[in-house]
Amino acid sequence: MTGPTPLVLMYHGVAQVPRSLDPANIFVTKEAISHQIARLTERHGFRPLTEAQYLAALAGERSVPSNSCLVTFDDGYASVLDEAAPLLAAARVPAICYVSPGLLGAQPDRSEPAASARLDRDGVQALREYGIEIGCHSDLHASMRGMSAERLRAATSVAREEMKALFGHTPRTFAYPYGDHDAAARAAVREAGFECAFATYEGYGRFALPRVDINATDTPFTFDLKLRRLYPFVRRSLGRVPVVRRATHRVVGYAPRQP
Ligand SMILES: [Zn+2]
Repeated sequence: MTGPTPLVLMYHGVAQVPRSLDPANIFVTKEAISHQIARLTERHGFRPLTEAQYLAALAGERSVPSNSCLVTFDDGYASVLDEAAPLLAAARVPAICYVSPGLLGAQPDRSEPAASARLDRDGVQALREYGIEIGCHSDLHASMRGMSAERLRAATSVAREEMKALFGHTPRTFAYPYGDHDAAARAAVREAGFECAFATYEGYGRFALPRVDINATDTPFTFDLKLRRLYPFVRRSLGRVPVVRRATHRVVGYAPRQP
């Protein structure tokens, strides 16, 4: 496609989880995501795309407004069905949820919050009734950087076939666990037949498209900042200078969390 690709937001789970049980800040509250979706569409006028519309735009088959966006959820937590799906449907916002077929129905271990329970097969199917497409998040959610050719095949083409058998629908897109990828991982995803793949901040073409991570530390101010096209570049440069990043976070603020 020509011009900037649509902005892609990355969420994980939706629950009130104390910071001590969620050190990576991946759970946002229902209130937070509800306000963020309203802010995205009403205040900033973003136009959420379906997976099919996003892929058609990526392929240059249709043009989309420059304020188009795509909402994604990684990991397939049960809270995406219980909390996010109804509010997204009410706001008419489509989304993609990335699941790992080897982890369907997985329950949290002792160190994890109850909210990290994952959807089982029926739960994943139920998402589609809300207009949420299902994408592939590898077979078992291991980092794919430096993976052997055999493991890469299991994480991509075998996982894709398994999802087709489980859900009666072949996933069209892929998201790298932890956003980790290298040239071999990108090639494996392409050869498996996926039409594109999402990383986190670091974009590397169609098979490692950048996303912005929306997490528990976001305030309305940082959320707005992340909707700005320059954000990934700002973050990347700040990421190399931790002192500057800490200072910047002091200025832009963090959302308060239960300790
Ligand atoms: Zn993940």
